[in-house]
Amino acid sequence: MSTNQNTKPDLIFAADLGGTHLRAATVDQQGKIRFRLKQNTPQVKDATAIVDAIVAAVHECGGVDEISAVSLVVPGTVNVEESTVVKAPNLPCLDGFPLGDALTEQLHLPVVLENDANAAAVGEMWRGAAIGCKTIICVTLGTGVGGGIILDGKLWRGVDGAAAEIGHMCVDPFGGVACTCGSRGCLEVFASATAIVRMTREASPRYPDSVLQGNDDLNAEVIFEAGQQGDELALETFRRMGVYLGIGLANLINILNPEMIVIGGGVVNGWDLFEKDMHQQIEERAFPLLAARVKIERAKCGDDAGLLGAARLAFKH
Ligand SMILES: [Zn+2]
Repeated sequence: MSTNQNTKPDLIFAADLGGTHLRAATVDQQGKIRFRLKQNTPQVKDATAIVDAIVAAVHECGGVDEISAVSLVVPGTVNVEESTVVKAPNLPCLDGFPLGDALTEQLHLPVVLENDANAAAVGEMWRGAAIGCKTIICVTLGTGVGGGIILDGKLWRGVDGAAAEIGHMCVDPFGGVACTCGSRGCLEVFASATAIVRMTREASPRYPDSVLQGNDDLNAEVIFEAGQQGDELALETFRRMGVYLGIGLANLINILNPEMIVIGGGVVNGWDLFEKDMHQQIEERAFPLLAARVKIERAKCGDDAGLLGAARLAFKH
């Protein structure tokens, strides 16, 4: 930080705009989080309420005098050059909205936008599991399945900023499970938290003695806890999930020859329950040299991966 009083401290205001929560922080050049807050994302039809919430969060985090740029991660496709949201399925009021310009107008600061899973990959490479790597794939197993790909140190956005939709790689063409994207048999319908619940319900008639029987509030965490206690229904679900995840990762390994695959998101809590089947599929399907080379690691930044990645991207901007 400069001692010159005329110079702003070199902090980035980073915000992770989720469908449910708006999480924000100021981050310094070393990746240290100085101040953070978490609040509910305004559930509105009007994008200006979201702009107002972000502006208020900037002031709560110390105000514009404390920061040199604003960097936002959005759950959807963004046009990075134009700082606009192209499509955000969980925040449809932002579709087509020039979020960058709207914030610059109010805050008089540069604004950077990025997709959430892309930012998480950057965060994990900067301050997480993939420090020192150059070519990585980051997979986020949450409500859906997100992906970020960094090749030779560069985030791979594709021609329209929509690359790395790892969750929508087909891993089961004949099973017929429909995906929200319109396709069928995507990785997301087998490896997301939503999928864990669905697969448990599907398999439950075969496990009448499961502790999960009669539980109307099933979620991935409850199923994971049952699995830890040895519940066979939960264990089958996670084994099945590991098989499909392994198939997807084997495809990615053969195409991209990554140094590391980082797996994050809430479902990764079940790591011990799906790891064996995931590795077995990789071993059976990926080229042996490539499979031996790639490290498969749990993410280390937790919920902060997106915020850290956002800050990193703004520092580099
Ligand atoms: Zn899909």
